[in-house]
Amino acid sequence: AEQALRQAQKMEAIGQLTGGVAHDFNNLLTVIIGSLDRALRKFSADDNAIKLMNNALEAAQRGASLTQRLLSFARRQNLDPQTVSVPQLIEGMHQLLVSSLPANVLISNHFSPKTPLVKVDPHQLEMALLNLVVNARDAMPAGGEITIVVSGELVPPRELRGDRHVCLKVMDQGSGMDEETLLKARDPFFTTKGVGKGTGLGLPMVAGFAEQSGGLMILYSELGKGTTVELWLPEATRQAEDAVARSNAVSSASL
Ligand code: ADP
Repeated sequence: AEQALRQAQKMEAIGQLTGGVAHDFNNLLTVIIGSLDRALRKFSADDNAIKLMNNALEAAQRGASLTQRLLSFARRQNLDPQTVSVPQLIEGMHQLLVSSLPANVLISNHFSPKTPLVKVDPHQLEMALLNLVVNARDAMPAGGEITIVVSGELVPPRELRGDRHVCLKVMDQGSGMDEETLLKARDPFFTTKGVGKGTGLGLPMVAGFAEQSGGLMILYSELGKGTTVELWLPEATRQAEDAVARSNAVSSASL
């Protein structure tokens, strides 16, 4: 019976991961299709058209790296935490984020000076950010502003036991969530977006990524005003590396 339970848990994990990859892949396809659509309408070989084509190419490459992740999961490889500058990573994907937004949704970045480096898997952080920006966009059908803030000097929540963390916030001026939605938002497969639109796997994956990295995801939301998602990511210190190694050891042991 224990064997069967473990098998079921394993299948659930694989199913969630596969579904998660499909979810992210869908976000990426939105970017590819949007960029190509705009490029084709301007098809007079001006510089802008070439730039849009490059956006599409970049998104396709990210898609390919996602399928790589699926493959390495099947081979039970751990994800690959690296020393990452969060502001640099966000700047590097600015074009990609902009091309996932309609013209009436603006996005701006604010970075505190000398933000410390963090230790996370950079591809996962990119996917997490894209998920949060897509959610913010979907919460603002009439348009509005998405603000990304990175701070290196905020005091982390108590759960993080005083270890040093960088705080990344994605804020929107959208619909916000009522109490019940806020409570369920991070449950796998919970979505309010309707059949064929939402998968309910975005936030559980973002939260899983933050926790596996030795950090946290925190949601704040006010109905009719907007939502702030905080990702607390561990600074690239010796301690943080140990925490990531421990969590990798646990997750491969349970598979
Ligand atoms: P999906 O985007 O596929 O619905 P998520 O797990 O990313 O899945 O989100 C789950 C639910 O949480 C959404 O359907 C929505 O109700 C709510 N939600 C997430 N982000 C926001 C946001 N920025 N503003 C308002 N509601 C949100």
